[in-house]
Amino acid sequence: MNKKDEPESSNIIKYRGRFAPSPTGSLHFGSLITAIASYLEAKTSQGKWFLRIDNADFLREQDKASDSIKRSLELHGFEWDGNTHYQSNSLTLYNQKKDHLIDNDYVFRCNCSRKNLRNNPIGLNGVIYKGTCRTKNIKEDFSIRVITEHLKVAFKDEIQGHQACQIDEDIGDFTIWRRDNIISYHLATVIDDNEVGITNVVRGYDLLNSTFCQLYLQNILNYINPIYSHIPIATDANNQKLSKQFGAAELSNKLITQNLFNGLCALKQEPPTELRSDNLSNIWSWAIDNWSSKKLTMVKSITTLN
Ligand SMILES: [Zn+2]
Repeated sequence: MNKKDEPESSNIIKYRGRFAPSPTGSLHFGSLITAIASYLEAKTSQGKWFLRIDNADFLREQDKASDSIKRSLELHGFEWDGNTHYQSNSLTLYNQKKDHLIDNDYVFRCNCSRKNLRNNPIGLNGVIYKGTCRTKNIKEDFSIRVITEHLKVAFKDEIQGHQACQIDEDIGDFTIWRRDNIISYHLATVIDDNEVGITNVVRGYDLLNSTFCQLYLQNILNYINPIYSHIPIATDANNQKLSKQFGAAELSNKLITQNLFNGLCALKQEPPTELRSDNLSNIWSWAIDNWSSKKLTMVKSITTLN
């Protein structure tokens, strides 16, 4: 869906949020709380909420995971606007934007291996890349990196406060197109957010530093910068982020109200105990009436038993 399809009744830009899971497995508790927070932010702002399946990296996509995530969201009472957007449907657009960046000399080809870069210092987003291949003439087997200028990139995170970095020194030239010919997460995200006219991004704290790269790309591409809110990530008792990679348990669709209640507790909304045994509709009503992202201010992680 394109923002141009929708007539604007006024000049006020309405809130447009999204939830963008990767189909690398089923929904787990960590992704549920991100969905809840982004949904409640949209609903309490009288905004729209879109679902995007981030499957540009088809190598990591698990069979049937998209359907499982959608089914789980539906059963938990999430209602998204418009059709589900799949990144795999945007490949032509991605290539056009890549060509635009190449034609305007914003990027260069790089054939450094991980091994070549292993002695580089570690920055905010992994290894700092300092332009090694910028002036080389590489013909094959390359990734594409963006030239980072000597610029400070800063933003005000709605939950984590003021953030700033020196993009070339703290991150360096980052990848926009991988060697295996797959678009990078950063570039795909900014293109899709722009395409749907996303005004507000609510996502996990683990993605906070990637925002610098995304703001940098948005500025090159003349896109509007959305407002960002990075909510705490759910961790296990060992302080390990709940993720599919580390075997986070799939959410049970038989424990829907319990999952939702536990999600609100994890998000520090302090729902009344009696809500635990209430029905789905009442839990959502309570959540919409009482949602306050202020309760998450500066919180970076939440330990959970889920
Ligand atoms: Zn290189």
